[in-house]
Amino acid sequence: MSYFGDIANGVKTLLTGMKVTGKYFFNARKEIITQQYPDNRDTLEMFERFRGEVVMPHDENNEHRCTGCQACEIACPNGSIEIVWDRKVDEETGKKKKYIVNHIYHLSMCTMCNLCIVACPTDAIKMAKNFENSVFDRTALTKVLNKPGSKLMDGVEE
Ligand code: SF4
Ligand code: SF4
Repeated sequence: MSYFGDIANGVKTLLTGMKVTGKYFFNARKEIITQQYPDNRDTLEMFERFRGEVVMPHDENNEHRCTGCQACEIACPNGSIEIVWDRKVDEETGKKKKYIVNHIYHLSMCTMCNLCIVACPTDAIKMAKNFENSVFDRTALTKVLNKPGSKLMDGVEE
């Protein structure tokens, strides 16, 4: 190919590549996808499937759905969950029943794989969308998910 042919071909290739860039450049105002974080902290909504950390929801009576079955602990591939449990006598049946003492979660080790959530038979844990987890002390990322004084909801069985 001639010298000028090479230049023409180079310009053509460049324009082909810039076509996509140009399309987004001129249509940017129609579909703004860049978030002005942290200025928009108060209004920021993470997308539906975002995984920020594992949490245990409690209701207004400080009750949760965790039976202490340890399925999440077994499912976790890297030991991010430790279940401390005990047994006590069920007043209704008179039989000993397992209950959770502490559901310990190491956020610093969690890869957000979701396996613990899937494994839980009672939907006791879920993924939250919080992502601001920077701390000065790594131990602050070890959390107890069941709140102090909380107990198992009535009707939830292992
Ligand atoms: S999301 Fe995955 S890594 Fe994190 S605690 Fe659950 S099973 Fe473990
Ligand atoms: S969170 Fe679910 S899987 Fe884990 S111990 Fe509690 S009930 Fe079992």
